[in-house]
Amino acid sequence: MSVALDPRWTPQRSARVGKDLAWSWLTLNRLPLPDELHLDRESAGKFLRKTWLGVHSSKRRRSRIAVAVDDCDFSGRFDTPNGVFIQAPGSFEDHSALGVLCHEVGHHVDYTLNPKAYSRSKVSGFADLIDCEAEISDEEYNIHESFAEAIRLFITNPDLLMRGRPARWELLTRQLGLRPLHVKGWKVVLQKAPKYVHSAVEWWLQDA
Ligand SMILES: [Zn+2]
Repeated sequence: MSVALDPRWTPQRSARVGKDLAWSWLTLNRLPLPDELHLDRESAGKFLRKTWLGVHSSKRRRSRIAVAVDDCDFSGRFDTPNGVFIQAPGSFEDHSALGVLCHEVGHHVDYTLNPKAYSRSKVSGFADLIDCEAEISDEEYNIHESFAEAIRLFITNPDLLMRGRPARWELLTRQLGLRPLHVKGWKVVLQKAPKYVHSAVEWWLQDA
């Protein structure tokens, strides 16, 4: 099976591939699947606020994920109030349906490992780690988001996480014993992404 992720997929197809990847990865690592997954705003209801693309909740020990798949249709470059983002499925910035879904699965893992969030626990050492290593993306505005982003990239492009943010990779593989779905190089995963995404990744790799 090809590991290449295609930015031209429709949001619906991107979500399907994201779910396949995330569910396979959770199963490989003997982690439970989320109890609920909603892939549109209608079925998610108020759980998914209007301005959000995705959400995870683990109230009453039920792990729920919702993704506004129809709203995840971003091209490779897009403008936000915080500047221009260059993104693609499997890249360091990834707002595709696939990326958003795998990010929410990252929160699911955080609260599966510890009901009060593994990332925040002293034993994890994650707080010290993120003080010493550059961020993966601009999504990392708190420790929970940092953990979710690390899991997202671990699922979607493990080689990129290993090369670009090695401290995060070490924690996930050595301390938690997590295994990647494959060992293909990051360029193989991003072979369908435009050249400017590759240039952005090269720049990001130097920023570690
Ligand atoms: Zn998040």
